[in-house]
Amino acid sequence: MSSPLIPIFDGHNDTLLRLIRAEPDENDSFFRGGRGHIDLARAQAGGLSGGFCAVYVPSDPSVPYAYVPGELPPVLDLAYTQRFSTAMTALLFRLERESQGQLMVVRTAAEIETCLQNGTFAAILHYEGADPIDVELNQLELLYQAGLRSLGLVWSRSNAFAHGVPFRFPSSPDTGPGLTDAGKALVKACNQLGIMLDLSHLNEAGFWDVAKFSDAPLVATHSNVHALSPTSRNLTDKQLDAIKESDGMVGLNFAVAFLREDGESNADTPLATMINHIDYLVEKLGVERVGLGSDFDGATIPAAIEDAAGLPKLVDALRESGYDDASLRKLLHENWVRVLQKTWK
Ligand code: ZN
Repeated sequence: MSSPLIPIFDGHNDTLLRLIRAEPDENDSFFRGGRGHIDLARAQAGGLSGGFCAVYVPSDPSVPYAYVPGELPPVLDLAYTQRFSTAMTALLFRLERESQGQLMVVRTAAEIETCLQNGTFAAILHYEGADPIDVELNQLELLYQAGLRSLGLVWSRSNAFAHGVPFRFPSSPDTGPGLTDAGKALVKACNQLGIMLDLSHLNEAGFWDVAKFSDAPLVATHSNVHALSPTSRNLTDKQLDAIKESDGMVGLNFAVAFLREDGESNADTPLATMINHIDYLVEKLGVERVGLGSDFDGATIPAAIEDAAGLPKLVDALRESGYDDASLRKLLHENWVRVLQKTWK
């Protein structure tokens, strides 16, 4: 019947946001079972062995994703973003401390590999948007020492460094200007420290600036194929070519609005639609440069998967469409480990 689970390492989850908003709801816990998409039991049931845990600052703390479709939300106040992101970062370290060895905040590729072998949930501290970082980059130094190993220059808004894409369908990702001078300095600092730069949510001009100024592989942790679903959040063929050339990778976003050709937020979206994106990415990038970037706890995902425990359904669908175990291991975790190994110092 079903073969043993290949461990899955995933490019993006918003579980910290769900948990910080749920506090102090005793019924929504990472350890004792929760709502949303990820808790420890469902992760273990689905073979989810870790991933990028996003620290994301909402425009309005009472509404997780407040935005007007098609428009960019306002720039946030630095003090507010530092307060909110510090609380979320502390929440991750508190989870690690309370986990009795079941969750580890990982800082090296070797630590991820150890976690994949022994079943510990490997969490990368990832900031989805550099909004809490001052232009002097003092906060970046502190966060690196704390464990920050991945940084999205922007969420879908502007900050001191770059401009995100508004959520727009259909739309090209070419929606505004490129990096600011502070943004170029941030790219250089991340290269020097060995912090991975995430290009998801960045507009196209910013993408090309990073391609020009960064010496690391180009990575979009949770974005899909623009040719299949023409939203501003997805990657054009030209962008995919640049990612391949840099030996970077793309994580498949499960958000139905970025999978569907009509861009609708309709959970009744078949697994075949996800496979189509994977096939396209593999065709363009090679099987070495594609992974998963679920957006669990941050998006409406296909009802067929439901939550982390449903991941084996996607794996079975991939197997049925011809991916052998060697390819599956690459797609499900090896590619992430390889790219991080190349990027981290
Ligand atoms: Zn996102």
